[in-house]
Amino acid sequence: MAFVEDVAKQQRPNVIEIRDLNLDYKAGLQSVSALKNIHLNIQEGSFVCVLGPSGCGKTTLLRIIAGFLQPTSGEVFLDGDPIPDKPDKHRGVVFQQPTLYPWLNIEQNVEFGLKMRKIPLHERQNVVHEYLKMVGLEKFKKLAPYELSGGMKQRASIARALVNDPRIILMDEPFGALDAMAKEQMQEVIRSIWKETNKTIFFITHDVEEALLLGTNIIIMSARPGQIIKQYDNQLPYEIGNGQSRKFRSTTEFIEKREEIVSLIQL
Ligand code: ADP
Ligand code: MG
Repeated sequence: MAFVEDVAKQQRPNVIEIRDLNLDYKAGLQSVSALKNIHLNIQEGSFVCVLGPSGCGKTTLLRIIAGFLQPTSGEVFLDGDPIPDKPDKHRGVVFQQPTLYPWLNIEQNVEFGLKMRKIPLHERQNVVHEYLKMVGLEKFKKLAPYELSGGMKQRASIARALVNDPRIILMDEPFGALDAMAKEQMQEVIRSIWKETNKTIFFITHDVEEALLLGTNIIIMSARPGQIIKQYDNQLPYEIGNGQSRKFRSTTEFIEKREEIVSLIQL
């Protein structure tokens, strides 16, 4: 059985391939190297967590994959083709600070992208309903963003990304501004969405425990200029539903893994 799973895993195609990527920011006459020599494959269905010191280029890498920023050199492929140099519906982005339109209610916010793409009303309503239900916001869909808690806003942002059925969801420290309880809940939400939809997720965090709880792959970056210094396969031994993650966090195995990664990041 294990063998069959291994084969299945190996055969999964790469959604994203990054080769020889460098990014220099121009600051006046000077140039700042933010990313250096990045090679990365993101396999379909994986949950990739990216860890690294502040300022190491994590957001820069996400912005390149999303199409907000062009690399100085190197190549990025989406499903084997050069990535379009503008954002599009195939790459859904969720930021740390939710970017919902304040004048639209939750349902309208989630629906917005579909409306812009002229998806017929009936189809739109079905898809919006499905994803609002998935993130647990169906009962709150008529509320305005200002009426929601931070966790609920992030649920709406996730639903808004999912309705477009993107090839990859890019998340930049999405739970970084939430309090501990809301964060734990949102970790359960994103884990169950990932399981239910089989989506590929690229997830930046500065929380090592979060990466260990969620990531099938953990990528560690060095201080600037950001380079990938280590990649871990994480077997996701932790069932985190119903507050179970707290139980795992105190196990010796978990603490050892956490400390190994923390010491790498502090190098
Ligand atoms: P992280 O998300 O890992 O904290 P960033 O990708 O935001 O890091 O930034 C990487 C480095 O590039 C930082 O040192 C930052 O100051 C610099 N940087 C980010 N954006 C710009 C910009 N637009 N112009 C110049 N330097 C930038
Ligand atoms: Mg950042």
